[in-house]
Amino acid sequence: MDKIVNYNPANISEIVSEHKTSSEEELDLMLQKSTVAFASWSRMPAPKRGEYLMRARDIYAERKEELAQILHKENGKPIEEARGEIQEIIDVFDFFNGQARAIYGLTGQSEMANKAIMTIRQPIGPAVFITAWNFPAAVPSWKAAPALIAGNTFILKPSELAPLSGQLFVDILNEAGLPDGVAQVATGAGEVGEYLVRSNHTKIVSVTGSVPVGRHVATIAAEGFKKCALELGGKNSTIVLADANLDLVVDGVLWGAYGTGGQRCTSTSRLIIDKTVSDEVVTRLKTEAARFYDEAAKQAAANYAPIISKKQLEKIDAMVQEAIAEGAELVCGGKVLDDGSDKGYYYAPTILKCKDGIKITKQEVFGPVLAVIELDPQQDPESLLDQALYIANDVEYGLSNSIYTKDVNLGMKAVHSFESGLVYLNAPTIGAECGGASMFGGWKHTGNGSRESGIAAFETYTQYKTIAIDYSNKLQRAQID
Ligand code: NAD
Repeated sequence: MDKIVNYNPANISEIVSEHKTSSEEELDLMLQKSTVAFASWSRMPAPKRGEYLMRARDIYAERKEELAQILHKENGKPIEEARGEIQEIIDVFDFFNGQARAIYGLTGQSEMANKAIMTIRQPIGPAVFITAWNFPAAVPSWKAAPALIAGNTFILKPSELAPLSGQLFVDILNEAGLPDGVAQVATGAGEVGEYLVRSNHTKIVSVTGSVPVGRHVATIAAEGFKKCALELGGKNSTIVLADANLDLVVDGVLWGAYGTGGQRCTSTSRLIIDKTVSDEVVTRLKTEAARFYDEAAKQAAANYAPIISKKQLEKIDAMVQEAIAEGAELVCGGKVLDDGSDKGYYYAPTILKCKDGIKITKQEVFGPVLAVIELDPQQDPESLLDQALYIANDVEYGLSNSIYTKDVNLGMKAVHSFESGLVYLNAPTIGAECGGASMFGGWKHTGNGSRESGIAAFETYTQYKTIAIDYSNKLQRAQID
């Protein structure tokens, strides 16, 4: 594929951008530039590096509306969500600019007299970022801000389905005056990313994408002993106990399951609910879900996202039809929304009542599909919660889970028992904040322990160096003298 043409998924006759696939010669040049730039960028004091990022942050803020409109067209997400995504870049830059003066190490106590010991963090080298299409602006910032502040250089390889926002993200860094080669972008599909990952110039790899791609890239990175951070798929659940505030549940599940068209790694994909309240919740969800798309007018509401591609649209439908064939009861949706003019790739907000264990209750759909699993209320509340937690955790993923209850004991038991990197009490599975105490990432096959958007990101972008300073003027032998 030499040329990549990207269409607005909400209006597929509209071309949003065209890109050329980066050639191997171009990639080699970028990789060399990345290594050369690292030599000086890594030696610059971190607060000085922060000044460049502050300038870029101000440009993102000035151009927020323009960038949001482009993002809105590029991947179809509602304009309000697109504005939020650009705001996320600004917030992430604010946070990591502050961290420029706080990349702390450790000082310790030597076992010997007149000797000091400290451990500092240093940058590692050129990084390669491989990103998905669903957050094509914010996710590059989660990687770039800590990487740059820590003193690394990077090449971003955005998704071929939405490369423009990533391109603009890097362009603005360069407009802010970053030295040549510090921030670069390569375009193309998987093979471009793989070429960059395999290069000896590359010292850090950070992937946001699906589990199979993450596994493949991590294996290549492991051969070169490269630092590798993985942020992969999810199969997230919301547990609802009978005492929950059902208004809150309906609002939260609607946003969690259908926000961004269900195309978030944290999207609510399973509702595990006490049967006592499930009829009411499901009926209300069905009524509210219908508001995302007016079937009579053949029109999507402003807050409903299209599916990114025809291939993904077909994949979602195939998974839903397979679930129905396996015995799931279709409550609503379950079809491609088509006005006959091929305007956009829309899938009806779907609810399926399922028995736990059928494929759709275990696999990531990445679309607006909610599997409802009902729990038998003829058991004590603690046993019901245990059953819910078993179902929630019985998947290969571990990204985000939530529970709605007013019972503090049961709520806290769930918080501790969910096997996931993100957990919410009385809130939906999506909408992670960035910076500070908030760290984004998953357990199990969702990742390999790395975290983004909070201070733990420095674990990916720095390496430790322990320095011993002996001012005793004699040989002191550890563990002997
Ligand atoms: P994908 O895995 O198909 O692609 C992700 C990126 O990997 C793209 O840039 C693609 O070109 C690249 N790629 C593909 N093959 C490659 C190879 N062999 N070598 C190097 N790079 C390669 O994922 P997608 O469809 O773009 O995004 C959806 C997936 O991303 C979902 O599984 C979703 O859950 C996940 N996701 C995770 C997070 C998170 O932070 N955990 C955030 C957003 C999306």
